[in-house]
Parts: sequence; C-alpha cells; structure tokens
Amino acid sequence: MIRLTNLTKRYGSFTAVDGIDLEVPSGELFGFLGPNGAGKTTTLRMIAGILKPTSGVVEIGGDDLERKPRKAKTRMGFIPDRPFVYDKLTGAEFLRFVAALYGQEGPAIERRMDELLKLFDLAPWKDELTESYSHGMRQKLIISSALIHQPEVIVVDEPMVGLDPKSARLLKDLFREFTSRGGTILMSTHTLEVAEDMCDRIGIIQGGKIVACGTMAELRHQFAAGDASLEDLFLRLTGGTPELELGHVFDR
Ligand code: ATP
Repeated sequence: MIRLTNLTKRYGSFTAVDGIDLEVPSGELFGFLGPNGAGKTTTLRMIAGILKPTSGVVEIGGDDLERKPRKAKTRMGFIPDRPFVYDKLTGAEFLRFVAALYGQEGPAIERRMDELLKLFDLAPWKDELTESYSHGMRQKLIISSALIHQPEVIVVDEPMVGLDPKSARLLKDLFREFTSRGGTILMSTHTLEVAEDMCDRIGIIQGGKIVACGTMAELRHQFAAGDASLEDLFLRLTGGTPELELGHVFDR
C-alpha cells in the first residue's frame, strides 16, 4: 500500500507538487498521467526517498518514509526513467551490489538473479561490463535490480520507454502477476494506451495537483464523457489543443 498525505514540493516560490493526497491499496496498479512538467517525476522521487518533500507524508506499507526510512525502503523497488548503472560493474555484479544494499546475499540471491537475467534475456551478458549494454538492456537490468529484494511496492517512472515489444509484454505480464499476488504499483506513463490497458485506476496530474482520479469508467462518468477515449479525456482535462492549424510551420 502507498499512502500520500498532503505531499508538497516547492522550489523557491515555485510549487512543483501541490498537496497531493492519494492511496494506492495492495493489489492495485495505479497510473499517473500528466503533461510535461506536471510533477509526476518529482512525486515519484519523493515516494522513492530520493527527494525530500517540503511537507507532507509518504507511507509505504504503513511505514512512514521519514520516520522509518529503512523499513519503508525495504518494502519498495524504484525504477527511474533514466537507467543509471555503474559502467564498470558487470550485470551480475550490479545486481549483487543492489541486493547487498538491502542486506541480502548468498545462494537465494544468486538464484533470483539468474532467474531475472534469464527472464529479461540478459543471461548471456551477465558477466559483461554494463558499459557495453544497450539502452534497453540497461533498462531491463534496472528493472531486475528493483525486483531483486522481493519488494511489496513498485514505483516506476515511464517503464516502457526503450523496451522492445517482447520486453514490454514481459513487463506488462510481470506487473499483472505482481499485483495479482497483492503487490502495489504506482506507474507514470505518457503512453495512454499503456495506461488504459494496464491500470486499475488512473490519476491525472496537472500543475502539481491531481485533477482527476478513478477507473476509466469513473472518469468517463465523472466528466460526462460518454465513451470518450483516454486521450480525449486527458486532453480535455489538461487543456490540450489537438486541432491546431499547422500549415504555416512548413510554409516557405
Ligand atoms: P515530464 O513528463 O516532462 O517528465 P513531470 O511531470 O515528470 O514531467 P517533473 O519533472 O516532476 O515533471 O517537474 C515538475 C516541475 O518541477 C517542472 O516545472 C520542473 O521544471 C520543476 N522542477 C523539477 N526539478 C526542479 C529543480 N531541481 N529545481 C527547480 N524546478 C524543478
């Protein structure tokens, strides 16, 4: 379970995240949508404990992230939008390093590591330095590292970017399996089809505030949107202007 209470982040006089209240229960995949600069990454980074909130509370599985950071972080796996890995470690060394950060090592971790590397088609690259990995391979290694310590909660920023169709499908199936076993996922995405297809509930964030939240059916009902697509709803709620006159851009 993830619970955010009045979560706020200010940079000087600018408010990037403005008093967000949200509860994502166990077993739910919640999608976070919003235009560029809306505050998605800032929110996810605060939940992951990378960025300190100006005010408000983050709870992971009932543990307050500020008061019990170790306990809360042990329950969580974070997949950032940019896959940072240490270039001079091999894939296997990187996974062992992350597992050790969570105080886990030994045969069980070796087995889990082999299982994850195999699942993501990285087994043949296990002992290669990650500097030779492609963007997608790095992304898959980061995803594996977020799963290595068996978290209860996954916080993930734009997971599908850079993944080939097979890996994207695998991730989708993994996330489904994870939530069906009681795991909790908070995922940001710009891909509305991914959100519509995968998420149990969706929150639309704009200007640091959640401006709409619910299942697709609830959102359509709430905004009297008939059978509107998520794209139509999204553009309506975030003030998109999809019917611009663009001819002049190419006028000579
Ligand atoms: P995108 O879809 O483009 O990734 P986002 O919804 O993830 O956007 P954030 O990265 O959370 O948006 O940024 C929210 C706002 O906070 C933006 O206006 C951004 O410029 C601002 N911001 C983020 N980090 C800082 C910082 N370190 N200092 C000042 N402003 C910041």
